[in-house]
Order: sequence, then C-alpha cells, then structure tokens
Amino acid sequence: MCCYDLHSHSTASDGTLDPACLVEKAHAAGVTVLALTDHDTLDGLAEAAQAVSGLDLSLIPGVEISVTWQAMTIHILGLNVDTHNQVLSEGLQELQEIRHWRAGEISRKLANKGIPEALEGADRFRKGKIISRTHFAHFLVESGYAASLRDVFKRFLVKGKPGYVRSQWVTMERALGWIRQAGGLPVIAHPARYGLTRSKLSRLVGEFRKAGGVGLEVVSGSHSRDETLHMAAVCREHELFASCGSDYHGPEKPWVELGRLHRLPQGCIPIWEAESWPLALAV
Ligand code: AMP
Ligand code: MN
Ligand code: MN
Ligand code: MN
Repeated sequence: MCCYDLHSHSTASDGTLDPACLVEKAHAAGVTVLALTDHDTLDGLAEAAQAVSGLDLSLIPGVEISVTWQAMTIHILGLNVDTHNQVLSEGLQELQEIRHWRAGEISRKLANKGIPEALEGADRFRKGKIISRTHFAHFLVESGYAASLRDVFKRFLVKGKPGYVRSQWVTMERALGWIRQAGGLPVIAHPARYGLTRSKLSRLVGEFRKAGGVGLEVVSGSHSRDETLHMAAVCREHELFASCGSDYHGPEKPWVELGRLHRLPQGCIPIWEAESWPLALAV
C-alpha cells in the first residue's frame, strides 16, 4: 500500500527542514510517495532526489506557484515537473524577483511602524533564494513582537495589517503553461483556504480547467473534514483528479504532520490514477 503526501516544503522556500531531513522524516512517517513542492522554486529537488536513493520512497518533483487570480493569491501545485525545463525555471525566476521586491516593501512598512531592519532579520531565517512572509514571521516572533507563528500573521502580515504588501504574482494561464510545458500536472492547492463563495470557486475551477488544470487538493493538512467533503464534491462535479498533501513546513507547526492524512472521500479519482502520472510509481 502506498502512502501519498503530495505537498511539502523545505528550506529551499519557507520550510524549516532541509530537503534531506524532510525526506528522512517522511520516510520515518511511512510516506512512500512524497512530493516536494516549495514555493516558486525547484532548488530543493536535487538534494531531495539524492536523499531518496536507497529508500523505499519515491520523490515527485514539484512546485507551488503563486498566482494572482481576480486580485487574490491562489497557489497552484505542479506535480511531476521536469526540473530542467527552461520555461518553468525562467518563470519561477520572475516570481523570485517579485518576492524580493515585496520583501523590501514589507520591511519599509514595518520600519514605519517602529520595527527596524526587518529585512535583515527575515534574511537570517532564510536558507534558500526564496524570501517569504514566513521568514518575516520567524523574525517577528524571535524579536518578541508576537507570541507565535499563528499570532504573527494575524497581527502583522495579512491584509489590513502593518506589514502587508499586496503583490501581483503571475496569471493562472501563465503558471499552468509553465507546468504543462515542464510535463507536470497542475493542481489547485488547499482550495478551501481562499474563502471563496460557491460560485466564485466554480469560476476558479472552470478557468483552471480551461487553462489545462487537472487536479484539486481535496485532502490537505489545512482542511477540516467538512472542507474535505465539500472539495470532494467540487472535484467530482468538475471531473478533476483528487490530490492529497499535508503542506508540511516543519516541526514548528506541530498541528501538521507528514503522511497523516485522511483517505480521499469516495467517488474521487486519485491523481495517481491519471494517465500521465509516472508509471514507475504505479501501485
Ligand atoms: P508568502 O507566499 O511569502 O506570501 O507566504 C505564505 C506562506 O505563509 C504560506 O505558504 C504559509 O506557509 C505561511 N502562512 C500564511 N498564513 C499563515 C498563517 N495564518 N499562519 C501560519 N503560516 C501562515
Ligand atoms: Mn508556505
Ligand atoms: Mn499554499
Ligand atoms: Mn504549501
């Protein structure tokens, strides 16, 4: 029996375990198929691929792309992408630059509110090329501005708060184009996290499908059971494949664990049954 976890992060983006540690931990947790899906980068994948050799664990090279759709940020996973594809790599580079621009703006806004040198502070928590709000969050907690990672987003880093900067990521069409050119399967990440009404979710899924999207992350570490059941219905209605992933970021968020996921609800077709899923991983 395979145990799939198709959404996770390492120090290449905003996770706290390096790729080799992440692989080890996933293996120890009983995961047999792991996707490393760092935000807007493929940098952790080579190390992760090395770490799985000799283990009874298959690595799916993945990525989680930041997309702006109708003025909202939506995360699109690309599963099983070719890490050498130039179109994808160049596209991700664009996002990395947007992230650096945004980080400077976040730092400037925080300085105006009496929190100096936040960029330097966040940089101390950054191990890869990507700079994320999570790095600012670690800095703000360490400096005593907030009690916990959960607390710090609410107080500083979301819309309407002192360190929030709106950014224009890439369009869904472009992100899906990159994923497909790299031979990957596009999946909407944690669809219940965007606070969408039923009709808006339908519109998102419709446009996603039109652009070549194939999957919905029905089971997620950030979905409640009810949200999972709702997304299962959406998945069936729109004839998408269902995916499952913890969205693991490291032991600092102990409420999310690798591989500890509910089964996909009845009637959902798992993404690993898609024709283009790597055959070497067939159950
Ligand atoms: P970014 O892509 O840089 O805007 O950062 C988004 C990341 O911040 C997400 O991928 C999560 O890892 C993290 N994040 C967002 N909201 C929260 C929250 N409320 N609590 C903890 N982490 C969060
Ligand atoms: Mn993250
Ligand atoms: Mn996400
Ligand atoms: Mn994620």
